[in-house]
Amino acid sequence: MADQQYDLVIIGSGPGGYVAGIRAGQLGMNVAVVEKDPQVGGTCLLRGCIPTKALLENADIWHKIQKSKEFGITVGDAKLDFAAVQTRKQGVVNANVKGIEFLFRKNKVERIAGFAKVVDRNTVDVDGKQLKAKNIILAMGSVPKDLPHIKADGKRIINSDHILELKDVPKSMLVIGAGAVGCEFASIFARFGTKVTIVEVMPLLLPIEDEEISKEFTRVFKKQGVDVFTDAKVLSCEVGENGVKSVIETKGKQQTIETELVLSATGRRAVTENCGLEKTKVKVERGMVQVDPFMRTGEPGIYAIGDIVPTPALAHVASAEGILAVEHMKGLDVRPLNYDHVPNCTYTDPEVASVGLTEKKAKERGYDVKTGKFAFTANAKAKILGETAGFVKFVSEKKYDEVLGVHIVGPRATELIVEGCAALELEATTESIARTIHAHPTLSEALMEAAEDVLGHSIHQ
Ligand SMILES: Cc1cc2nc3c(=O)[nH]c(=O)nc-3n(C[C@H](O)[C@H](O)[C@H](O)COP(=O)(O)OP(=O)(O)OC[C@H]3O[C@@H](n4cnc5c(N)ncnc54)[C@H](O)[C@@H]3O)c2cc1C
Repeated sequence: MADQQYDLVIIGSGPGGYVAGIRAGQLGMNVAVVEKDPQVGGTCLLRGCIPTKALLENADIWHKIQKSKEFGITVGDAKLDFAAVQTRKQGVVNANVKGIEFLFRKNKVERIAGFAKVVDRNTVDVDGKQLKAKNIILAMGSVPKDLPHIKADGKRIINSDHILELKDVPKSMLVIGAGAVGCEFASIFARFGTKVTIVEVMPLLLPIEDEEISKEFTRVFKKQGVDVFTDAKVLSCEVGENGVKSVIETKGKQQTIETELVLSATGRRAVTENCGLEKTKVKVERGMVQVDPFMRTGEPGIYAIGDIVPTPALAHVASAEGILAVEHMKGLDVRPLNYDHVPNCTYTDPEVASVGLTEKKAKERGYDVKTGKFAFTANAKAKILGETAGFVKFVSEKKYDEVLGVHIVGPRATELIVEGCAALELEATTESIARTIHAHPTLSEALMEAAEDVLGHSIHQ
């Protein structure tokens, strides 16, 4: 039988691969997406963004019920049915899987089940069947990575894949790592009633955020009853009958903490091995595929996108890179992505979101920086919601008043940040944001007032 011919074969159906597939279909390309998992969607849909946000929504509703008396509503005998929580989460995931399958059919994207390996620049092997392609996109994504001295066993020491399958809410849990993944699971389970301890090697939780934002987030998280250890390391975890004994070192002092579970949320490893890349000119350095600004690897015709390349490991970045790669191979007039304009969101309580440069980074790049802030305590809508912790911070430069970064900790930060994204993309000045009429009463007024604060005339503080 003759080999099958494609314009494009994509390996992996995460937000990088499936979006690239749809864009290729829209452009009339004969495209196939190869996926080894039984379902399409990758980490984001099956084990990442979507199931975690579904659980966070449950935690939010549960938390609101707990404080419903503040709103004059008495709820009798509220019960948390964790099995039903998990079923709903799976329902949300499955509905989105069906959505991708529908979009594949609509855009004539062929889905091929199996494990793909690159044979050469024009050939992909899928479990012994050869596919011929003019172009290939590598989009194999990433998997959880263990610490060298703490290996996940899937029972007592778990990772972000295992925790999504829990049958019960644990009584206590130690979270190692306070990046977005660790903090989101801490926020889910702390609100479900788990006694959560979180350990972070850096001085603050969410350490990549602007320092003032991380400080405020750390303060609020502690106030909510999460035990926070920063500047701290987990030296060892000893698994016993009923739990895990972990030795933590903070500023030279050691202590032992016993918890039912340990969640290791210390990072991810790009999937680049066993894919035949060693037979090609695709360059892999420190586990990451090296690409140029148009996502081309060292092998002509082969592109790479998403978590396997050294750009921010986020779903929206993977998708944008997928679209860029496809449009570039099609010969469209495209621009490289501006990674300074990538929003970073953490869907905890309170939420954290940012785009652009932190104050520190802006100074390091030599900008003459001015900043402005506005606290949600002074925002009417935040008071209505009963969620007044946090603030908005603008980072701008003095000479042209250009907005360089927007940083938010507080209610709906992950939705509000889009105004910052648009400001950066449109090269807005702080004054143009301050002069933009924002609807009242909305949380978005906090952005307007933070911009006004840069100019020294915020009205409500
Ligand atoms: C708990 C958690 C929460 C997250 N939350 C967010 C969030 O809220 N927002 C956000 O932007 N990002 C979030 N992320 C990150 C996001 O999930 C990833 O950045 C994104 O999924 C990367 O997309 P990708 O397409 O590069 O790879 P992936 O989504 O990892 O998909 C890769 C796919 O390739 C398949 N594959 C691998 N090798 C082969 C092969 N040889 N043959 C066939 N198929 C193969 C895999 O099975 C997989 O389906 C989260 C991650 C985690 C773990």
